[in-house]
Order: sequence, then structure tokens, then C-alpha cells
Amino acid sequence: MRKSHLIKPVLGNNYPVISHGKGIYLYDKDGKQYIDGSSGAITANIGHGVREIAEAMWNQAQHVSFIYRSQFTSDAAEQLAEKIAEYAPVDLNSVFFVNSGSEATETALKVAIQYFQEQGNMTKTKVISRWTSYHGITLGALSMSGHQLRRQRFTPLLEDFPAAPAPYCYQCPLKETYPGCGVKCADELETIIQSIGPDQIAAFIAEPVIGASGGAIAPPDEYFARIRAVCDKYDILFIADEVMTGMGRTGKMFAMEHWNVIPDIIALGKGMSAGYTPMAATIVSDRIMNVIEAGSKVVMSGHTFSANPQSAAVCLAVLDYMEKNKLQDNAEVTGQYLITQLQRLQWKYPLIGDIRGKGLLCGIELVRDPISREPFDLSTKVTDRLLSICFEKGLLVYPAVGGVTGFSGDSIIISPPLTVTKEQIADVIDILDQSLSDLTTQLITDGLY
Ligand code: PMP
Repeated sequence: MRKSHLIKPVLGNNYPVISHGKGIYLYDKDGKQYIDGSSGAITANIGHGVREIAEAMWNQAQHVSFIYRSQFTSDAAEQLAEKIAEYAPVDLNSVFFVNSGSEATETALKVAIQYFQEQGNMTKTKVISRWTSYHGITLGALSMSGHQLRRQRFTPLLEDFPAAPAPYCYQCPLKETYPGCGVKCADELETIIQSIGPDQIAAFIAEPVIGASGGAIAPPDEYFARIRAVCDKYDILFIADEVMTGMGRTGKMFAMEHWNVIPDIIALGKGMSAGYTPMAATIVSDRIMNVIEAGSKVVMSGHTFSANPQSAAVCLAVLDYMEKNKLQDNAEVTGQYLITQLQRLQWKYPLIGDIRGKGLLCGIELVRDPISREPFDLSTKVTDRLLSICFEKGLLVYPAVGGVTGFSGDSIIISPPLTVTKEQIADVIDILDQSLSDLTTQLITDGLY
């Protein structure tokens, strides 16, 4: 007989039961404290147990929690859309609410295709993405993802979308070295477009900083301007998947602001609700919306829970909290501090090949040899080993392993809530230090290092 009816990520594993959370800490029912060093899945941006959010939930629930978007609108959804449009760059003024990051990127894909269809162009239906990418778990979003581990079982059901090399300088897929390479990975996009034919391609999608499949990989500074120019040249829309990076995580409201490049569509999720409710969004530019408005007038997507006032009120409270507490600024300042502390660990542990990231989205790549950058064989499961050592010691970090050597190595993400203080970062570093020491001993003992 099964003890639990809940399907968990790994069947048979023992998951501690969490009783409550406060700030950057979670507590299980046995009283053990965990530092949420990854904000869950880079989500709990304002920390746990924030009273103002609970109050906003209660206030909205007293009035109305659900209405159907085909019948009504609500103040909460209208205000949230307005706020997000204010944050977004110039002409990204329209917001479509969904319930997960996967739905946000998949909606972006559908909107891009629809934009061309409305103009009588029926052939532009492909989306180019990148190897070393993750855009979501539903079939459309997974089709756009280069995350091999998550794709492999379902390949026959996935669209055969083309993929460009990622700007993954530490293990360059083109075997080039920056800056001598001249950012060839950006030029590759043009080569792919020419070989397939621009008349087949609706959009290019990219994470500003690669997350789940690579571990906080930021591109060279000139990369996205080049990508934008190529997209414009061939009338291809540029979708920025800011599900992980958006809403202040990297020290800017949107990570694309680091390079002053404006996308046509932005996908948001995770930090938008900070995990207090399932909510995500697709932000669409006026250029696209004007075409749809002059045409069918219907964005052909939507979910039962889209734009529900309960979730919208929660997100509004989250964004207010972020503004009041200047969390975006804190992400920038403490993020720099975190990087310097991680670099100190790199001196101590040759296992650490690369330290990287933007704001409070930081990555550590583990390698067998820091000089040659030789990765561990993925069957060694170095990332999983480090994760469980950290977990034992009460520190949560996020695994970022795409599953194919050459496109992605062994990486973890450190991304505490944006409320984190320097003192708390020192605690994170202490536990990481001990954990890396234990990992080194374990690998040597097992004859793997
Ligand atoms: N895009 C990116 C960049 C992500 O990091 C994720 C989640 N890790 C998704 C899309 C999918 O979001 P969700 O899990 O909410 O469907």
C-alpha cells in the first residue's frame, strides 16, 4: 500500500513536510530550518510568510475570487496589467494573464504565429530557440526548449523547431573563445534563418540569462543587440523569456534592460507572484496588438483561471511590497556581494569551474578540471550529490543540468529571496563551503575524482 496519494517528483523519496516559512527560511515539521538559497525554483522573490500578502488575499477573497474572463473584467486584473505595462519597455503595453511560465511562453508562440496570420502570412509558424534553454514543460513550450532531460521521452510529440547555439562562453558549443569569436553564436542565428527560409519563421525565443538548463549563463554584452538586428532584418519577432529573470531578480525589472534591447513579446512568471499564487503573463507590443485588433480581435488562447482577480490582487500586493522595500536595488547590491563571496570559494575548491550570473541569479559550474574545463561525466551526478549534501545541512540550491554534455554541464543556481541580507549570504556561503568540502571528499572516496 502506498503511504501517500500525492505524486512527488521522485517516487519513493522521503520529502520533509514543511510547516511554515518566514523570510528566507523554511521550517519542516521536525523543526529543521532550511535557508531557501534558491527561492524554491527561483520564485519566492519576496521571501516567505509576508503578512501584507496574506492580507491582500483575504481582502480580495471577501469581494470576489473568480470571474470568467469571457464575461467580466475586474479592478485587480486591470490594475495589474497597467502596472506591468508601466514597468515594461515603451510599446509593450498589453498583458495576457496565464497560470504558469510554460503557458506564458506558449502563449507568446501562439501570439507570434497569429500576428503573421492576421496579415495573410500563413507560412511563418516555426520558432527558433537555442540549445541550452528551457521555456516550459507543456508540449509547445517544450518544443522550444533545448533541455534534453525533459524532452527525450516526448520527442515524437514535439515540433521539430530549429535551435541556435547558446552564448555559453565557458563551454562554447562552437569551440570558440570570447572576444576573439566575434560573438559567432549570434551570427549562427542568421545562418539558420537563411537555411530554413525567413518566410517559415515567426519568432526567436531566448532567456536573457539561461536558467534551468545551464545555471545563470549571461551572454556577452553585444549578443542581444546583434540578435535583435537579425530578427528585424528578416521580419522575425523576438520573444524574451523572462519567466526566471523578470521582476527584479537580476537587479533590473526585466533582465533585457542590462543590454537596452527591446523584445516584441515578454513571458513572465515565477517572481511576478513570488509563489503566493500561480500566476504568469505574456506582455505583447503595440505593433502586434494593433494588427490583431485590426483583424480578428481575438487573441486565440486562454485558460479558465486566466486573469482571475484573486491571483491578480496577490500579484499587485507582491509588486507593491517589492517597490516599498526596494528589492530590485537589493538584488543588484547583494548580488554583487554574493558573486565576490562565491569567487572566494572558487579559490578554495578546484571543483568550481565558473562563477557567473546577474543580480541575485548566480550560477556555479562544477568541473573535473578547472584548467581544461573538462566536465564530469553526467552519470557521476555531481550536481545531485552537492544538492543533497547542502539539503542535509539546511541549504536549498537549484539544480541546472540540461542533460547533454557539450550543451550543458553540472551547475547549480544560488538565488535567495531578494530580501536577503549580507549576513544571511555569509551563512549561505558557510554551508556551501562545508558542502563543497564534503563533496570533494565523497568524490575522492568513491574514486570519481
Ligand atoms: N521559462 C523559464 C525561463 C523557466 O525558468 C521556467 C521554469 N523553470 C519556465 C519557462 C516554465 O515555467 P513553469 O514551471 O511555471 O511552467
